[in-house]
Amino acid sequence: MLNSKATHLLIRHHEIALKGKNRPEFERRLKLSLTRCLNGKGSVVNVSGRFVIELPTPVTSGSEAELKKLIRRLARVGGVSAVAPCSIVEPELEKIQPEAVAWVQNEIGADPNAKTFAIRTRRVNKNFPLNSMQTDAQIGTLIKKLKDTLSVDLKKPDLQLNVEVRHKHALIYSWEQEGVYGLPMDVTQRVVCLLSGGIDSPVASYEVMRRGCAPVFVHFHSKPYTSEASITKVTKLASQLRNYSPYPLELWLVPLLEIQKAVRDACNERHRTVHYRRFMMRIAQEIAVRRGAKALVTGEALGQVASQTLTNMQVIEDGIELPILRPLIALDKSHIVEKAKELGTFETSIEPHEDTCVLFAPQHPATQAKLAAIREEEGLLPCFDLVFAAVDSAEKVLL
Ligand code: ATP
Ligand code: MG
Repeated sequence: MLNSKATHLLIRHHEIALKGKNRPEFERRLKLSLTRCLNGKGSVVNVSGRFVIELPTPVTSGSEAELKKLIRRLARVGGVSAVAPCSIVEPELEKIQPEAVAWVQNEIGADPNAKTFAIRTRRVNKNFPLNSMQTDAQIGTLIKKLKDTLSVDLKKPDLQLNVEVRHKHALIYSWEQEGVYGLPMDVTQRVVCLLSGGIDSPVASYEVMRRGCAPVFVHFHSKPYTSEASITKVTKLASQLRNYSPYPLELWLVPLLEIQKAVRDACNERHRTVHYRRFMMRIAQEIAVRRGAKALVTGEALGQVASQTLTNMQVIEDGIELPILRPLIALDKSHIVEKAKELGTFETSIEPHEDTCVLFAPQHPATQAKLAAIREEEGLLPCFDLVFAAVDSAEKVLL
């Protein structure tokens, strides 16, 4: 799979190119993120407007497993659409042709049963004497000479060769690892992600991370009613999400038990779950203030469970000043499950765990809680003290 002609890793990005005046800032962030992923083992250089990773030795000289790991890591950086091992030559036909042929020869060596191929040239340098189609044809003729049984298939070729003719360089590559697209992480766009042990909230966190937000994870537990295993599980989920961040992340483990007891003792039994949720939001907001985060993120999806009705959402977010982002709001469960599998969190999420919200929970929770009634009950509680005490006693884990 890894062509021995490859000397560099080409980082392809997608949306960033469309950002006009913001482009330099996006590129700066992308470069920072990529550099962090390299951990001193290489550098990010600009080659005719493309980011390319330069490793101390040619890419294919090390262990293939290590290289693939690095490629996967780079592909998880927000803003990256693909990572491709590539070779770089001068943008002249006499230089490109032999390199392309040698490259394809290696590909044929790795896949002797290949029957079809496609050449895809992108010409950015308009001074290059041939247009893209002419270049494809020229190289294609040479490939046919190499192995005349190969035929062209532009839709689903067995072998593919990409040639990018840029101003000062031409880049040649075939296989590429697809990236996460989105935007590079921006530490000034911090958000607090409410992370339960379920399937949804890790996916919701990933979606905002992919769009450039730097998460602070917050998990509520009711120890000792909920077990240590639940904490281990959520820590594992947060560590899996850490794979998608170039920067270290925090997980706050917040005890909810005192609040739950206070709610149990003072409020209508059917309203308990809604009260817990309101406290979760307030605590998350307080953590956001302390960490300079600009929004809260949940894994809620409309109608997925009884508590996720519009009425309840309105009641739960009442009094919260920060925007609440719900990236999964209109997604079907099956779609979310698919994403969790792709992300790698699904297997962890389905491990059994105790849900904080069911502690002292009523058999028939209110699905259409009335805001006025909720506020009145809450008036009986020392809300601020409870929120501050919970935040102050939170345990912080650095991931
Ligand atoms: P998930 O699969 O994310 O647990 P869910 O379908 O179980 O979601 P709920 O239990 O109603 O849905 O929770 C809705 C959202 O509230 C979660 O996605 C999460 O963002 C937040 N949340 C719920 N419980 C907790 C908790 N113990 N700690 C942190 N956040 C929580
Ligand atoms: Mg849950």
